[in-house]
Amino acid sequence: MTRPVRACINLQALGNNLAVVRRHAPDSYVMAVVKANAYGHGALPVSAALTDADALAVASLEEALQLRDGGIQKDIILLEGLFSADELNEAIHNRLQLVVHCEQQLAWLEQHNADTALHVWLKIDTGMHRLGFSPQQAEHAWQRLQALTAVQAGSVRWLSHLACADEPDHPLNQQQQACFEAAINSHVESRSLANSAMILTPTHPQYDWVRPGIMLYGASPMKAGDGASFGLQPVMTLETRLIAVQQRLKGESIGYSQTWTCPQDMLIGIAAIGYGDGYPRHAPNGTPVLVNGTMAPLAGRVSMDMICVDLSNQPDAKAGDPVTLWGKGLAAESLARHCGTISYELFCGVTERVPRIYTEA
Ligand SMILES: *Cc1c(COP(=O)(O)O)cnc(C)c1O
Repeated sequence: MTRPVRACINLQALGNNLAVVRRHAPDSYVMAVVKANAYGHGALPVSAALTDADALAVASLEEALQLRDGGIQKDIILLEGLFSADELNEAIHNRLQLVVHCEQQLAWLEQHNADTALHVWLKIDTGMHRLGFSPQQAEHAWQRLQALTAVQAGSVRWLSHLACADEPDHPLNQQQQACFEAAINSHVESRSLANSAMILTPTHPQYDWVRPGIMLYGASPMKAGDGASFGLQPVMTLETRLIAVQQRLKGESIGYSQTWTCPQDMLIGIAAIGYGDGYPRHAPNGTPVLVNGTMAPLAGRVSMDMICVDLSNQPDAKAGDPVTLWGKGLAAESLARHCGTISYELFCGVTERVPRIYTEA
């Protein structure tokens, strides 16, 4: 038997979640965000399963080429555009669409001056203050793009990104929308603002293209609650098994640095999963873990390859019993809150040594 850790990826849940996107944004095109290896779920199998998406979005040329090499034909957007001028030829050759967020990227396109059709997305900084042209620069940048033969044969679309969409009532959301619309002015050709949190906020406009990431994977982007409340289903379930069950005595400490001590004589289970697999090392004592579908609190430090759990409510537990770290039965969002992080980071952190097992059900 091999080490029992696995990330089970339910592609049917992915389809369900894309349908939830469609219900929330029925009049918008969907750009499915599959950057960072589809948030750890496997970029190629996830992209291949997203047949109903209108386009895919990634963070780099390398990520896009991985999809093209795997036979993905859909439009692909590079969300941060080019990192250097020498990426341009390959991007054009592979029919990639480019975000243009700064003067230098604009200059690279002007210097290249090719005539193959090029679709670009002009990024406006409406309040995130990370990437993008200021609203005042927007019109001028748009005109410079429109002057390029390649872009005339292609298109210019507009995008911006919200900083506080995970808090639907945050005033910055309205401010950024107003800023976006003012910057775009009369060029309402094609606009994109909504990430998952904005898609899931019914009072927000969805514009022409929505850009769901985390909700496709079944987790809620909101500060509170979980994906199930939006009809989302977890795509990844991270599983392993108990590899030992030990009878311990009151007062014995468990694991590195003696951070947890048995309050009574009790059973401790050892599960084959650790930070070497992407389970967060900073998960505190008491973090929920499912053993045989029942909650068993984490007891002691997370090791590289193992964790220990309190089995005092499972006297019959034995080596080989199934353990779930997150996914079906235990929302990644809730685990993330215990660990002071977000589901995004948990998913992206699942390491390469964890096999991804794809199922349709
Ligand atoms: C990652 C990303 C998204 C997706 O965000 P979620 O919160 O995962 O829905 C959307 N737009 C841009 C520009 C991104 O970088």
